[in-house]
Amino acid sequence: MESWNFIQRLGLNLDELNLPKINQLHVSSPSGKLLTQQLDLGGFGISRFLLDSKLAEIANKKGVVLLDECRVNNVAFNNNSFTIETTKGEYSSAICVGSWGKKSNLDIKLKRNFTKEKKNTKNYVGVKHHVQYDLQNNLIELHNFKNGYCGISKIENNVCCLCYLTDSENLKKFNGNIQKMEEEILMQNPFLKSIFTSATFIFKEPIAISNITIGTKNSVENNILMLGDSAGNIAPLSGNGMSIAMKSSFVLNALLLNYFEKKISREELESKYATFWKKEFKTRIDFSKLLQKLLKNIRLSNLVIAFLNRSSFLKSKVVKSTHGKPF
Ligand SMILES: Cc1cc2nc3c(=O)[nH]c(=O)nc-3n(C[C@H](O)[C@H](O)[C@H](O)COP(=O)(O)OP(=O)(O)OC[C@H]3O[C@@H](n4cnc5c(N)ncnc54)[C@H](O)[C@@H]3O)c2cc1C
Repeated sequence: MESWNFIQRLGLNLDELNLPKINQLHVSSPSGKLLTQQLDLGGFGISRFLLDSKLAEIANKKGVVLLDECRVNNVAFNNNSFTIETTKGEYSSAICVGSWGKKSNLDIKLKRNFTKEKKNTKNYVGVKHHVQYDLQNNLIELHNFKNGYCGISKIENNVCCLCYLTDSENLKKFNGNIQKMEEEILMQNPFLKSIFTSATFIFKEPIAISNITIGTKNSVENNILMLGDSAGNIAPLSGNGMSIAMKSSFVLNALLLNYFEKKISREELESKYATFWKKEFKTRIDFSKLLQKLLKNIRLSNLVIAFLNRSSFLKSKVVKSTHGKPF
């Protein structure tokens, strides 16, 4: 709900789409201990497919030229201007905003720090299914399993998004066989066993993405202003990755207006944006990383859930610390 007003202001009528509004959270430990919590701010369920297509319609109406099936191969900054090489030609621009997500060819091309192999960096694999499953519309469930967790909530058309993040080690143990890993590891959690054995799976194969790292990156690099996941990844356990992406574009939009009206220089634009990013998101992302570490350990997650269940004040504090304010 953080970004509900912002999306409506862009011209997308979310009420018309009749999306599920989510205000209840259930979290379980791998052995099935359950924590329940009301979500004060809450959220709404929508697939990225529907959201992106609606935003593209709005952009088209406003005269934005969108290039489909077009890959950016390189970006270079010279003489106060960017040269952008794409599979559909070369473009030059005064400003370049990077919104290429958690991992891209451009990260390697620009030699971004996090792409260099570090011994202690944890790599995760994300897997997404769309399923038919009898789940309350207002509920999001997060179920922990050994070295990972799986979330389920409703999106549009009464479909559920069933999505999990696991240490890549879990998948390696099963030679990359996702179904086997689900049976042997995820289904040790009784809630996940019930979901995986009774849901109807809509995709023939799940969508999987590997080499995910959690944490902040540089929000300005090679003079490119980074939005959303290209500036940092919050642990999906804390939700809100979409909201961070939108809030960063909302704030950058205001700064860019100042830049084009010559109220601020490029240096000021970059430093104001980098300061905003650090102040607004760094603590949230670092906290999500810590929470993720605690909950993926079977013994610790049982302890954390039992401890939080004793205090509704603490429960609500922990949930709030992963969220920002509506904008
Ligand atoms: C398992 C999992 C579950 C999650 N669950 C939630 C959730 O419940 N709620 C939530 O709010 N967030 C969730 N997130 C986080 C959320 O998905 C991201 O924070 C969000 O998608 C970030 O948006 P983005 O636009 O920055 O990046 P993305 O959505 O990754 O978009 C980047 C786009 O750039 C394109 N691209 C990349 N390189 C190039 C190139 N060179 N040229 C052209 N295009 C390129 C990509 O193809 C992609 O379409 C989850 C993440 C994971 C991994």
